[in-house]
Amino acid sequence: MKKILIHLEASPHASVFDQITAYDAGVDKVLAYGNVKPEHVTDLVYGGVFTRGVPDLKNTAVFIGGTDVAEAEALMDKALKSFFGPMRLSLMFDANGSNTTAAAMVYKLVSGRDLKGKKAAILAGTGPVGMRAAVLLAGEGCQVYLSSRRMERSQRSAQWIEQNYGHSVVPIQVSNDDEARLLLEQDISIAACCGAAGVQLLAGDVWRSAKGLEAIADINAVDPLGVEGIKVNDDARIEDGKSLYGAIAIGNLKMKIHKTAIKRLFDQNDAVLDFKEIYNIVKEMR
Ligand code: NAP
Repeated sequence: MKKILIHLEASPHASVFDQITAYDAGVDKVLAYGNVKPEHVTDLVYGGVFTRGVPDLKNTAVFIGGTDVAEAEALMDKALKSFFGPMRLSLMFDANGSNTTAAAMVYKLVSGRDLKGKKAAILAGTGPVGMRAAVLLAGEGCQVYLSSRRMERSQRSAQWIEQNYGHSVVPIQVSNDDEARLLLEQDISIAACCGAAGVQLLAGDVWRSAKGLEAIADINAVDPLGVEGIKVNDDARIEDGKSLYGAIAIGNLKMKIHKTAIKRLFDQNDAVLDFKEIYNIVKEMR
């Protein structure tokens, strides 16, 4: 029986990237829909739910993508509410690569280190990747500091994480080198730089002089990079006593995670691959 992936997203054109990745992961046919609104989701999902008998439903799955993560979350919510009893399809969420990227970055930082009780800073952590990384690192036992250029934004993100995931995260403002230096001086061991493309967050002298800092990850692949002096292909390269992880090294792992997660969708008909489940997958992969 053909493996069919129903790809839904709110953006006008369903992502070419996600469709090619699905084929590379072994999907036989992607049914891709752009411009999807929450009120369209149930009918689209029902097309998958009612065409195959329950034992065969594991051969149909749903992927929720798109560039706007909040819009995609509304589609995901609607899709999950459309299922009932055994009439369900496995579903993966990876709008704007947020889930797979956060899982890849955190896995790189956690690998070979015991982070329990250590302090981790998520710089520019108010975006989709940063928020997910904060939850994952808190789950690994870190005390997480989450920064924004504006204190009220970091506070809002910290409150959202506390309300939804029960982790207490320290909100902090970092809008210049001095504030970044002050943050790293708070005995920070891990720095995850999650800023928008082309935004430098850590100047070279700031991170090099941070004594307790063990590892830095940067997911911004667009010049200027998020961390001055890092190279996009750095994969645990050590400089000034710190292990550095660049955006392409993290992106390569992200691609492997994405394909593995797509394959997992077809093992059963009721998997829900959110960022935590995707992070569990990367841990099992290694
Ligand atoms: P995002 O929402 O676009 O940006 C994250 C945060 O960056 C924003 O919340 C904002 O925080 C801060 N920011 C925005 N403009 C800024 C500026 N001019 N100066 C300083 N800070 C600024 O990012 P995202 O979608 O979470 O993605 C994060 C990064 O991951 C991006 O660089 C993206 O390209 C990259 N990415 C990489 C991959 C991969 O495979 N390697 C996949 C997906 C995404 P405040 O306004 O609160 O300060």
